[in-house]
Amino acid sequence: MDEIICCLNNASDILVTSHTAPDGDAVGSLLAMGLALAAMGKRVVLYNESPIPAVYRFLPGSERIVHEVDPSRFDTAVVLDCSDLARVGRIRDAVEKMPIVVNIDHHITNAEFGTCQLVETDACATTEIVYRLITAMKVPIDQDIATCIYTGILTDTGSFRFSNTNQAAFDISHRMIASGVNPFHVAQHVYGTYSLGRIKLLNLALDSIEISPNRKISLMSVTQNMLRETGTQLEDADGLINYAKRIQDVRVAVMIQEMPPENGVSQNHRRHYHVSLRSDGTIDVAAIATRFGGGGHANAAGFSVVSTLPELKANLLQLMSGVETPVGS
Ligand code: AMP
Ligand code: MN
Ligand code: MN
Repeated sequence: MDEIICCLNNASDILVTSHTAPDGDAVGSLLAMGLALAAMGKRVVLYNESPIPAVYRFLPGSERIVHEVDPSRFDTAVVLDCSDLARVGRIRDAVEKMPIVVNIDHHITNAEFGTCQLVETDACATTEIVYRLITAMKVPIDQDIATCIYTGILTDTGSFRFSNTNQAAFDISHRMIASGVNPFHVAQHVYGTYSLGRIKLLNLALDSIEISPNRKISLMSVTQNMLRETGTQLEDADGLINYAKRIQDVRVAVMIQEMPPENGVSQNHRRHYHVSLRSDGTIDVAAIATRFGGGGHANAAGFSVVSTLPELKANLLQLMSGVETPVGS
């Protein structure tokens, strides 16, 4: 922590970034860190390769996030909620060349990239770590920063329901509410402003659920056709996997999202897929995601792959065939 504070105190032009296809923690940590560094008088650019999902655009400062940047003019990069540097997207190589790269993250699979690391795998969200860092840097946590920190914790813990929900989630949320966060206002934006198309997409996604013969694995798919049919985007598939995970006896839920054709290969039915994995705690899905070049947490992980859908499903079922035998029996 002290080393990071020293780096940030000495920095003047800072690029703050987080992973592509950002979730609430990636947006929240990017904004909280960006607002705090700006309050310290630093020149900061907030960057994310992907558009900010509509449900997070209410977050203070989100209009400052840019999607194009000249990466040559920074002395420091702060990379948030990324288990490896490739997660930032196409600016990866440019970030790697920056004099100082600060890696702040909570993934068990963190590759320890960068010149200094603040990786706490017990943290429920990257914003939990950012909260401690901002406090240690003695930057006052105003309502705007507090809203970003709270939203990261709220979304990464699945509203305080997932296994990563720890005491800090409640302690910090309590403090953020004391700093002016309105939990109802945040919940309304994050969970209460879905488009009709998003609800219709839920219907199609639920209908796609398949269960393995042993009932331990559920598979859900979201295709480009479903998005077209409902007038939605991939960001509208966020959180759908939790329905597949809730099914009785299911240990691992798999969500296969077909990426747009420009990002991938479309010959011979091979497509670019993002695969999300969720576990009930008995299977380490970070280990499975790592086998496919991805990463994450023991109970929530993901990876990207180019494959055909039947081949991908067969590979996943094969890798998880051990799920057949209950752990400990
Ligand atoms: P997702 O299923 O995309 O919501 O991601 C679940 C968890 O796995 C998150 O903590 C992600 O940051 C992480 N994750 C997803 N995709 C990848 C990937 N390609 N490489 C490393 N980590 C990933
Ligand atoms: Mn994330
Ligand atoms: Mn996170």
